[in-house]
Amino acid sequence: MLLQSYKITRILPCLADPEKIRVIAEISDEIHEVFPYLNATLKGCIYNHPANTLTIKKDQKLITLHVLHITLAKIEDENEAEELLKWLKDLVNETYEKRGQIEPNYSMAAELKALDIFKLLPGTNCKKCGEPTCLAFAVKLVGRDIEITKCDPLFSEKYQEKRDVLIELLRAAGFEIPQNPLGT
Ligand code: SF4
Repeated sequence: MLLQSYKITRILPCLADPEKIRVIAEISDEIHEVFPYLNATLKGCIYNHPANTLTIKKDQKLITLHVLHITLAKIEDENEAEELLKWLKDLVNETYEKRGQIEPNYSMAAELKALDIFKLLPGTNCKKCGEPTCLAFAVKLVGRDIEITKCDPLFSEKYQEKRDVLIELLRAAGFEIPQNPLGT
């Protein structure tokens, strides 16, 4: 068994939607050895091999596996977090057991798509970023031709949840984001 146990260590409120939470769980064992095997078997993962992170999208939730902790975003409550962590623990251990039959995949499998980014933008086409539409901004962002911070509205409290998920997704895909993009 690769992963013995996990423990929820932080539950952060979501200001934009008080019904949802963001959860961080510490894990008992280093699990990065299994990442290329999960990347080979799960659809839609983003594997950042140099940073040792694997991001999985499951039912609108965003789960990022790190070497010694897991972050869960867009979570309804602690029970849902516990269920997801149990599912993850089983998945990690089952995949690790079967690794001899799986060809590991070290590529950044599902590259970030402009549409993935677009869904997390305000969607108002306000043009404050200098682009005619949010989709045009998303295309430039995925092509690394514009910084996320150019979308001013995204950094308002109203879009905090979308912003957090988008920043997590971009970081997982190897994009460089300022440590504190709000500049506070
Ligand atoms: S500033 Fe943000 S919300 Fe406005 S058009 Fe650009 S991407 Fe869309």
